[in-house]
Amino acid sequence: MINVLFSAQPQTWADYETPLRNAFAKAGLDVDLSRDHAPEAVDYIVFAPNGPVTDFRPYTNTKAVMSLWAGVETVVDNDTLTQPLARMVDDGLTRGMVEWVVGHTLRHHLGMDTHIHGQDGKWRNNSYPPLAADRPVTVLGIGALGVACGQALHGLGFPVTGWSRSQKDIGDIRCLHGDDGLTAALTDAQIVILLLPQTPETEDILNAKTLALLAPGAFVINPGRGPLIDDAALLAALDRGQVRHATLDVFRTEPLPADHPYWAHPQVTVTPHIASTTRPDTAAQVIADNIARGEREAPFLHLVDRSAGY
Ligand code: NAP
Repeated sequence: MINVLFSAQPQTWADYETPLRNAFAKAGLDVDLSRDHAPEAVDYIVFAPNGPVTDFRPYTNTKAVMSLWAGVETVVDNDTLTQPLARMVDDGLTRGMVEWVVGHTLRHHLGMDTHIHGQDGKWRNNSYPPLAADRPVTVLGIGALGVACGQALHGLGFPVTGWSRSQKDIGDIRCLHGDDGLTAALTDAQIVILLLPQTPETEDILNAKTLALLAPGAFVINPGRGPLIDDAALLAALDRGQVRHATLDVFRTEPLPADHPYWAHPQVTVTPHIASTTRPDTAAQVIADNIARGEREAPFLHLVDRSAGY
């Protein structure tokens, strides 16, 4: 019998219990899934950073911690966590992110707001949206989510540049890395999509200097993490027209305080950290597959590099 502890917010139990039980059965795993195993009896923890477990020291026999979240910045520095930590790479989460990113990219590319908000009885048919081929898009962070978004945008005809820590070779995406790569990736980009993790290296990656590299009137779309952007620099870039619009899903403080300038800014769209989420059915299969790997002593998938912070 494998003891799996579910440690997440209480309301998520109803969403995950049946998918996890089904996925364990499908993987041939004999699992006792519970929210209150004795710590020393726990083999694996299905974990959300906002759940009850914060001190991992009592979990002396735990073989791995399986995060339900893709972003692990709030747990990566937890010194009590000595067990392997796997982050969430979930096809459902990825597909949701692709849909959100493509939707917001097309909104800005096609200038949809002009006609959605401009129904004043005047027939203005003097300008047409450009083709995607003429709108360079840059994706900062080409991991699980960034690659999928970049490839979907390429499929629509956008020229896509991606930037990562290590050099990549991904069909359909011009791949750059390192400091010089960042400058090249942002220079003349018309749409920038941030899908980097939050680490000390990525904080404020979009700042006054890097925003100045963008094409005048560029669009910024951030479903990554709030601290990736220097907020004051973005507001200044919006006010002088260097950035035409920013669609922001994530913020340094969440919920975004009611008096934050982003709420009232006419060129900012705030969405409340809903770009995508882990989907229980597909995520449960990922967790079951990873536990099955642990049981046959194969390497875990999606392990977090604690020193890199993601
Ligand atoms: P991932 O697979 O780990 O990919 C991260 C990418 O960022 C990789 O390409 C990585 O480079 C790159 N990177 C990391 N540090 C870097 C640095 N210092 N310089 C340059 N590139 C760097 O992560 P993911 O699954 O795609 O998720 C990305 C982020 O999306 C998560 O961390 C989370 O913050 C966010 N997220 C948001 C939502 C939402 O609803 N808003 C939902 C899920 C996730 P390498 O490829 O070289 O490692």
